[in-house]
Amino acid sequence: MHIDNYNEAIMNCRFCFMCRHLSAIGNVRFTEVDTPRIRAAMLYGLRTGTNSFDDEDFVDALYRQDLSGCCVHHCVNHYDENGLALAARADVVEAGKAPAAVKKLADKFVKSIGWKAEGSGDVAWFLDDTTAADKAVVAATKKLFAAAKVSPKIITGGSIGKALKVLGYLPEAKVAAGLFAEFLAKEGVKTLLVSNPAAASALKQDYPEFGVKLPCEVKCVTGFIVQSKVKFAKSAGEVYALADDFLRNYLGCNCMEKLLAAVKAVNKPFGTNDEETYNCGEGAIVLDRLHPELVKALAEYVAARADNPKKDKIVVASAYVKKALAKYGKLNVVTLEELAASCL
Ligand code: SF4
Repeated sequence: MHIDNYNEAIMNCRFCFMCRHLSAIGNVRFTEVDTPRIRAAMLYGLRTGTNSFDDEDFVDALYRQDLSGCCVHHCVNHYDENGLALAARADVVEAGKAPAAVKKLADKFVKSIGWKAEGSGDVAWFLDDTTAADKAVVAATKKLFAAAKVSPKIITGGSIGKALKVLGYLPEAKVAAGLFAEFLAKEGVKTLLVSNPAAASALKQDYPEFGVKLPCEVKCVTGFIVQSKVKFAKSAGEVYALADDFLRNYLGCNCMEKLLAAVKAVNKPFGTNDEETYNCGEGAIVLDRLHPELVKALAEYVAARADNPKKDKIVVASAYVKKALAKYGKLNVVTLEELAASCL
């Protein structure tokens, strides 16, 4: 089973409660089942035969996880409880026990595979669906590209595999990854710029794991703007920048901090600590489609921690987080691209 690759997490997390305060879903449901300790204990029970994927509550708990990566990032031993959860989902799918809603969503992502490119040159921008839906972020990104004097080819289309992997559909995710790599090669892409941190994680982390080789270098738009040494005429002022699940916990990337420094933002501490996630299930990619009620609760939890919810300028790294916090938390949220473009 896939979970056997995460033996350390199963054996250690089941006795540990040290990161329970970083379990975003546990924090809004007030439930122990939504913490790494209980998930690990349940998966240990699966191996000893006292638990089974026939138990729908058990499977539902696995698909409720926010997958922020905060627990593994802050664990003193970095036991990969996040990887364990993803492996457990893959085992659920292989056992044919995926919930109907998960299967339906996965089928939709499989059908969406396919892309098109507009423009020319060997620099391309992957404009994923989530980012494309936010016209303000798209416009801001185009302004930044103009300031950086680049005119990338724009690639749009369906799943590149991240959502399928997160749902536990590994063979399908690998097929999507292979096809996307072929598409990029056919288009002659040498540098691929990505807006969505989830896409960056897919391309930089999942693809090597799948053995899929990309024909190009992958850069976050944020990091690319910093590297391009774009001149900013105005300072950003006071902001509350929320650490991103993928950038901080998965990729260990500090381009968010670098862009904030480039626009001379005064970054104020948000909430009660800088360890937990305020990203409303960003790591779970499709939590808003499987459990909108949980995303609402997560956004309200964040809003309750804002000093001045109507006025504070919250800065996030992804259009997913912006949408959740603005829609359910009624917060004043911009993405890094919007903040930077406003400083040109
Ligand atoms: S990830 Fe680390 S801190 Fe969290 S339950 Fe596992 S061992 Fe404990």
